[in-house]
Amino acid sequence: MSFYKILIANRGEIACRIIRTAQGLGYATVAVFSDADADAPHVQMADQAVRIGPAEVGESYLNAERMLDAARRSAADAIHPGYGFLSENANFAKQVAEAGLTWIGPPPAAIEIMGNKSAAKQAVADSNVPLVPGYAGADQTDAIFVAEADKIGYPVMVKASAGGGGRGMRLVHSADALPNALASARSEALKAFGSDELLLEKAIVNPRHIEFQVFGDQHGNIIHLGERDCSIQRRHQKVVEEAPSPALSAELRAKMGAAAVAAAQAVGYYSAGTVEFLLNEAGDFYFIEMNTRLQVEHPVTELITGLDLVEWMLLVADGQALPLTQEMVSLSGHAIEVRLYAESAENNFLPSTGTVWHYQTPAGDGVRVDDGLRSGMAITPFYDAMVAKLITYGPTRAVAQRRLRRALQQTVVLGVDTNRRFLLDTVTHPIFTAGEATTAFIEQTWRPKPAPPSTMLELLAAVILYQTSAQSGSQASFGNWGRQAATYCFDVEKRARLIYVESGSQGLCVTLGEQTIDIRVLSCADNRLVYEVDSLRDVATFAFGADGELWLQAGLETASFEDVLLAVVDSADVMGSGRIVAPMPGAVLRIDVAIGDRVQKGQSLLVLEAMKMEHTISAPFDGLIEQVLIQQGQQMKPREVMIVVSDR
Ligand code: ADP
Ligand code: ADP
Ligand code: MG
Repeated sequence: MSFYKILIANRGEIACRIIRTAQGLGYATVAVFSDADADAPHVQMADQAVRIGPAEVGESYLNAERMLDAARRSAADAIHPGYGFLSENANFAKQVAEAGLTWIGPPPAAIEIMGNKSAAKQAVADSNVPLVPGYAGADQTDAIFVAEADKIGYPVMVKASAGGGGRGMRLVHSADALPNALASARSEALKAFGSDELLLEKAIVNPRHIEFQVFGDQHGNIIHLGERDCSIQRRHQKVVEEAPSPALSAELRAKMGAAAVAAAQAVGYYSAGTVEFLLNEAGDFYFIEMNTRLQVEHPVTELITGLDLVEWMLLVADGQALPLTQEMVSLSGHAIEVRLYAESAENNFLPSTGTVWHYQTPAGDGVRVDDGLRSGMAITPFYDAMVAKLITYGPTRAVAQRRLRRALQQTVVLGVDTNRRFLLDTVTHPIFTAGEATTAFIEQTWRPKPAPPSTMLELLAAVILYQTSAQSGSQASFGNWGRQAATYCFDVEKRARLIYVESGSQGLCVTLGEQTIDIRVLSCADNRLVYEVDSLRDVATFAFGADGELWLQAGLETASFEDVLLAVVDSADVMGSGRIVAPMPGAVLRIDVAIGDRVQKGQSLLVLEAMKMEHTISAPFDGLIEQVLIQQGQQMKPREVMIVVSDR
C-alpha cells in the first residue's frame, strides 16, 4: 500500500515532529488545524493545511468525520495520528482503512484490545507476561470488588479499564475507603472515557515505571528497542523520562524485553507500541498496559538507538520489513527528557494561558528540542498544556543530566508560567542524581514554595525599564535629573516596591530600600540585558507584554513586573482630569501653590520626598489650582490625590 501525501491528525510538538521526518523522506504533508491554531507552527511547517473546525477538540482534533473529510479535501492518502486525540481510537483506524487510506499505526484489532486494560490482561495472560495480582472481571458490583480486594490485600489500585492519562485511578488503603473510591472512579471514568468499567490491582509500593518500546512489521517480526524509565510522575502522569533505566541490569532488560515482545505478539502487533511495567524494589516486574501508538517520550529511545521511530512507522505502514533484527539493535549512551508545561508549579500546577511574548530554546551538543511553540503564540485553554520537550543525550548519564540542567537554564518562556524551575529542581535532586527515583518521588520531595521575586530580579527589572524607556525617548522623570534618574514602583505581592535608578560614573546606581547596587549595562537589546555587577558579567532575558508588563528571566527566576508608578502618571484619565496623585509613597516636603493660583505647564506644584530623594511634581497644563488636599509633612500613599488643577 504505497502512499505519498500524509495527513497528520494532530497538533503541537508531535505534529511538528512527524512532519519533519515525513518531509525529510520526501513525503508531502498536510496539517490540520482548529481556529485556535490557525497560525501554529505545525500549520506553517506542513505543505498544506486544512481547517477542521472550532477550537473545541470534539469539533476539531477529536472529530473523526472532520478528520477524514480533511484527508479527502487535501487528497492525502495516509494518516498519522500522533499521540492522544484519535491515535488509540480503533474505530477511526478502521474508518481510515475503509476510506482507502493508509493508517500509519498498529492494526485496529490490537488497538481495541489494548485500549481496555482488562481485555489487555486477558490477551497477554497466556504469553508468559507477569501481571499485577488483581481482579479484572465482568462482575462490577461493589460486593465483588470488596471481596476481591480482601483477597489481593491492601493497598489496592482502582483503575478505569478504558483509562489513560492517569485518570480514573484511585489508591485505596483500607476496605472502608473502597466503596467511595469505586463510586468516584466510576463517575470520572464515565465522563472521561464513556465507560465506567473498573478493575482492581494490588498497589505496588514505590515502584518504578519501566516501559519497553516495541516495534513490529506486517511480516510478523517484532522486536524491542530497550526500555524507558518514566518513574518521575505527577498524578500518574510522566514528567521526566530516561533511557536506559538506571535500575536495569542487562539480564533484567533481556527478561523484560522478551515479555514486552510476547505481549505485542499476543495481539498480532505491528508499528510502534509501548508495553508498560511496574518494577518493585525486589526486582519483580508486572505488566500494567500497552499503549498502541507513538509515545510522548519516544525521543529518548531514538537518542540511545540512533533510530528515527517515525521513519520506522512510515516504512512499516508501507509494508516493508523492520530494518533491524533484535540482535542488531544496540543501545549506547544515555538520554533524558523533560516535559515543559505551561503551568504554575507553585500554584498547584494550574495551567497557565496567555501569549508567549518571547521563547528561546537551548542549543548545544546532545541537546534536542521537540516543540510546537513560537514567540507571539497564544497558549489557549483548549489543549494539553505541554508546550515543548527538552531531551539531552550523553555518553554517560551524568553528561546527559548536566546537559539537561544547562538546557533548562537556557530555556526561556516569557508570557506564561511554566514548570521550568520545577523541572530544574527535579533533575538536580540528589535522589534523581543517584538514579533512585520511584513513582513516589514528586510526592516525597516537592513542596511548592511561594516564590516572590528576589531583590536582584526587581533591580534588573528597573534597569531594563530605565534602559528601554531611555532608548525610546519617553523617560519619565520626576525632579530635576532629566534623563539621568527615574523611579519605578512594582507591586510585589501587594507591597509597593520603590526602586530608584540613577546614572553614576561607573554605570547605573540602583536603590531599593536600604540596598544599593552599581550595575554596568553592556547592552540592552533584542530581549537581552547584558550587565555587570561586581565585575561579574551576566545576562537576563526580557520581553514586554501587550499591556506593557515586563517579563524577565534571570538565572532560575522568571517573573513579570508592572510599573504602577508610570501607570498612574501616564494615565490619560489622571492627567486629563488634572487630579495630581502621588506617584509613589512619600512625604510632602513643600507645597508651592495655593487654591486660586494660576499655574503654567511645568511649574512646580509640590515636592515629594521619597527614598530620601526629592521629586518635584509639576503642573500638567496651564490652569487654575482648584484644590489642595495635602499638608506639609503629610505621608502619601501611591495614587492618593494631592492637588486638583483645572484648565479654566
Ligand atoms: P504517554 O504515556 O505517552 O505519556 P499519556 O497517556 O500521558 O501518554 O498521553 C499522551 C498525551 O496525549 C498527553 O499529553 C495527554 O494529555 C494527551 N491525550 C491523551 N488522550 C487524549 C485525548 N483523548 N484528547 C486529547 N489529548 C489526549
Ligand atoms: P494510564 O493508562 O493512565 O497510563 P497506567 O495503568 O499505565 O494508566 O498507570 C499509570 C501510572 O499509575 C503508573 O505509571 C504508576 O505510576 C501508577 N500505577 C498504576 N498501576 C499501579 C499499581 N498497581 N500500583 C502502583 N502504582 C500504579
Ligand atoms: Mg500508562
